[in-house]
Amino acid sequence: MTAFLDIDLGAIASNWRTLNESHTGATAGVVKADAYGLGAAQVVPALFAAGCRHFFTAHLAEAVAVRGLAPGATLAVLNGLRAGEESAFSGHQITPVLGSAAELALWRAEAMRLDRVLPVMLHVDTGMARLGFAMAELPGLALDGLRLDYVMTHLVSADTPDDPRNATQAVLFRDIMRQFPGMKGSFANSSGMFLGADFWSDLARPGAALYGVNPTPGRPNPMRSVVRLTAPILQIQPRRAGETAGYAGAWTAQRDSHLAVIGVGYADGYHRALSNRGTAYFDGQPVPLVGRVSMDLTMFDVTDTPARTGDLLELLGPHHGVDDLGLEAGTSGYEILTSLGRRYQRRYFGA
Ligand SMILES: *Cc1c(COP(=O)(O)O)cnc(C)c1O
Repeated sequence: MTAFLDIDLGAIASNWRTLNESHTGATAGVVKADAYGLGAAQVVPALFAAGCRHFFTAHLAEAVAVRGLAPGATLAVLNGLRAGEESAFSGHQITPVLGSAAELALWRAEAMRLDRVLPVMLHVDTGMARLGFAMAELPGLALDGLRLDYVMTHLVSADTPDDPRNATQAVLFRDIMRQFPGMKGSFANSSGMFLGADFWSDLARPGAALYGVNPTPGRPNPMRSVVRLTAPILQIQPRRAGETAGYAGAWTAQRDSHLAVIGVGYADGYHRALSNRGTAYFDGQPVPLVGRVSMDLTMFDVTDTPARTGDLLELLGPHHGVDDLGLEAGTSGYEILTSLGRRYQRRYFGA
C-alpha cells in the first residue's frame, strides 16, 4: 500500500448542484479520462443521482464503459466519430460530437443504414483550432436523417477573464446560434460558467470544477474540495548538518534534521518536478519536500514536527489542493488529477 486516496462523491454532487444553480441552462458532467482520474464508475452514478442528465467523454470506449450507469441520459463523445465506430455509437445510444464533413457523412450513412433518425451534436471552432467545423462550412451542412441536439464551441482562455478572446468567442457563438434558429447551444466549460451571462447557454459542460479544481484562478475557490491523499511515514531518517539525501545528493541538510520517508513517487503521478519544491502537511503544518522525488519514495523535512513512523502526511487535501500541488509541480490541477496513480488505495465516501 502506498497511500490512501479519499474521494468525496458528496462533494462532487454538491459541486454539480452549485454549478447547475449558477445559470439558467442545463449542466452536463464531463467525465472524460475516467472522470479526471477519479473513477467514472463511481462518479457517473453520483452525478446521475444529483440530477445530471448529460455526460461527455473524450473517447467512444470511455462512453461505452459508463453507458449503463446513466440510463436514459445523453452521453456524447467529444473527440467525434471514426470509420468503423458507427454501429457502436448507434447500438449504445451514444451521441457523436462531429467536427468535420467526413464524420458527418459517416453518421448520415449509419442513419440511412438503420433507417432511423440519429442524434448528433456539432462542434464549431471559434478560435481553439483544435476540433470542429469552420464557421464558413455551416451554411452548406446536410443534416438529413439526423436530429441536431446541440451546437457547441469551446473557449480558448476561460480561466483568464480579461482575455479579449472570451468576448470575441461569445459574439461568434451568438452568430452560430442565429444560423440554427431554435437550436440549442452548448458553450461554457467550468471557468466559462464564471464569466457572466454572455457565456451561459442551453448546456454548460463543466469538468474540472466538479472535481475541486478552482475555476476562478487567483480568486477564492468556490468549489468544495474533493480529494484527500495521505501517506503513512515508512521511516524517519536522521540527517546531520552537511549530509545529503536521495538521488544525486540533491538536498543537503542545513542543520541536524529528521526526514520522513513515504511510499509515493513519480510512478504514482507525484511528479518528479516536485523535487525540492513540493509541500505536504503534518497535522496542519507544512513540511517541505527534500531531494528528488524517486519512483516509489519521497522525503519530507519533518524536523519541526513531532511526526513519527506510521503517522500520516497529507499530500493533497483542504490545506493543499490540486491547484496548489499543480503550481509547485509547474503544471495544472487538471494534470495532477489525471495523473493520480493506480497504486493508491482508493476510498469513496459521501455517495
Ligand atoms: C474537457 C472539456 C470540457 C470540460 O472542461 P473543464 O475546463 O474541465 O471544465 C468542456 N468541453 C470540452 C470540449 C472539453 O474538451
